[in-house]
Amino acid sequence: MDSTPAQRIEKLRDEIRRHDHAYYVVAKPTITDQQYDKLFEMLRSLESAHPDLVTEDSPTQRVGGTPTKGFRHVTHATPMLSVDNTYDAQQLRDFDERIAKGLSAQKYSYIVDPKIDGVAVALTYEHGLLVLAATRGDGTTGDNITTNARTVTSIPQCLVGAGVPALLEVRGEIVWPVKEFKRFNAARKKQGETTFANPRNATTGTLKKHDSSKIAGRGLMFIAHGFGRIEPMTAKTDDELFAQLKSWGIPVDPMRTPYESIEKIIDRLDVWDKKRKDFTYETDGLVIKVDDLAQRETLAATSRYPRWCIAYKFAPEHADSVLLSVDYQVGKTGTITPRAVMEERKLSGTMVRHASLHNFDQVERLGLYIGAAVRVQKAGEIIPQVVKLLSTKPEGATPIPRPTQCPVCKGDVEQDEGGVYIRCINPTCPAQLKERLTHFASRNCMDIEGAGAVLIETLVDAGFLHDYADVYHLNERRDELIELGRLGEKSVDNLLAGIEVSKQRPLFRLLAALNIRHVGASTAELLADHFESMPNIVAATEESLTAVDGVGPEMAASIVHFFKSKEGARSVERLEAVGVNMTQPKRPDVASGPFEGLTVVVTGTLETMGREEAKGLIKRLGGKVAPTVSSKTNLLVFGASPGSKLSKAEKLDVEAIDETEFLRRADSAFP
Ligand SMILES: [Zn+2]
Repeated sequence: MDSTPAQRIEKLRDEIRRHDHAYYVVAKPTITDQQYDKLFEMLRSLESAHPDLVTEDSPTQRVGGTPTKGFRHVTHATPMLSVDNTYDAQQLRDFDERIAKGLSAQKYSYIVDPKIDGVAVALTYEHGLLVLAATRGDGTTGDNITTNARTVTSIPQCLVGAGVPALLEVRGEIVWPVKEFKRFNAARKKQGETTFANPRNATTGTLKKHDSSKIAGRGLMFIAHGFGRIEPMTAKTDDELFAQLKSWGIPVDPMRTPYESIEKIIDRLDVWDKKRKDFTYETDGLVIKVDDLAQRETLAATSRYPRWCIAYKFAPEHADSVLLSVDYQVGKTGTITPRAVMEERKLSGTMVRHASLHNFDQVERLGLYIGAAVRVQKAGEIIPQVVKLLSTKPEGATPIPRPTQCPVCKGDVEQDEGGVYIRCINPTCPAQLKERLTHFASRNCMDIEGAGAVLIETLVDAGFLHDYADVYHLNERRDELIELGRLGEKSVDNLLAGIEVSKQRPLFRLLAALNIRHVGASTAELLADHFESMPNIVAATEESLTAVDGVGPEMAASIVHFFKSKEGARSVERLEAVGVNMTQPKRPDVASGPFEGLTVVVTGTLETMGREEAKGLIKRLGGKVAPTVSSKTNLLVFGASPGSKLSKAEKLDVEAIDETEFLRRADSAFP
């Protein structure tokens, strides 16, 4: 300890730089994060004791500090503003007029980038090393996602080539290329896991994962489209700068194009709209920017938008086709939904023959008839919708009839109470049976490994299954199952083992599995916890049911109706006879679940359950549910289109988890 503070500081800096190199460049750290933090802390305290020894190149002086584990907030050096939107050529001309006025007599030109539908991030490089990756957040403050961003292979850890600036903040989008996204979803589906609805939300969720090893292999990629601070800045135009970025190894959009005037851009809008379907990522428009960087300074920004740039949004993708016929699909509760069969058209890169018609009210509202010219549209969702009738109905046109019998079993149908749906009321309808059995075996119900929709369809068609209890008699028909040729011997044994295990599921899963109208997963839990056994529920009256907090009169009536019906009573009886568990194990302390003591907010659209069900689940697992995010919130669960609650949670440093993570935590309470 005879060295001077200056010597000790220098030694620490050298050591830290050596570890930085090992971590960032070689990606082979030689010490743990804790050891690193300790060194860093030692340096920081020495420096604060000797402020005269602090130099600009000290590791403590880096923008954003060290990359941290977990998600810490990052205040952007310059705000990440959003871009103003336009929807037609006239608005683009108005924008151009404002530019001309703002720049007086100067000449100017534009750069056009596809507007990428991804997650906006800022990457900061110091002397060519990636030191920080942050999400846009609310534009002022974002999340530190450095650790996760390092697993995105197209983000260089270290820049290459000549003229790399001392400080470079490049901005862009992290996207999930459509092809990779589909592949990932297909793999999940195969494993019986829930799939993601759209790449953008899935990317947001992915980047927030706490285990970054889960992110590698998802095929995410980064594309640069802007910048924050650059020191020193040598480029004079956006075009020049992006040529530099590219030479340093940063991925830039190959589609970006310079244009001399707004009219030249307007001329090409249709071409862009057609071309974008072949892009590797999803786009919903174009971003049009003044190319000259000095002119951007002159034009400056409003509080929300830069004045030198604007986005042009394409109309949702659509195709015009001819309605050939309407077919009917039967759901698990017998709901018959009409589906349009059309002349095949290409829409968003895929050939489309079918489109959703929702219900018969919609068919009538649109005034559809066989042979009608129709417009189908796809705006984000997977299934295209018929949105418009394009032709005029001729005299004597063939109308689209409401079905008078079930298209599958030819049984009687009834108009739904709401009047919107038509329902097959035959309890033994095979179409319904397939849907009901698939639901029965699904992950949130009896959770029978290997019993997916395709297998169930085969087993119903082959006459193995007529009701729920038949599932538990399959073990008596092992040889026949093997003879069927659909499954190998080993798969049959696995399936039968899965079925056997499912007999022991707690009562609430069985209740959820029985397809009782209005009874979802969370109601099933309420009932099971309250009544504790199936006989108690079967004996319950509407009064005793509505006495349960969370059970309304409509639900109560439906429950009583189900257990009084011949089919309902028989289902329960037969399931009991094969040894399916009919009791709810007293959860030792339900309030000791994974959300114990937490105040939780749910926002956005969840895929596997309604928001109310999610809330019920949280409550039963010890949590409290609050309607809005505040400083008292501990956890935010977000689905698709989370809106302002997510950004508010980010601002307040509230942990936010996606649906997959939510289900994982919830499931951890159920062995
Ligand atoms: Zn039917």
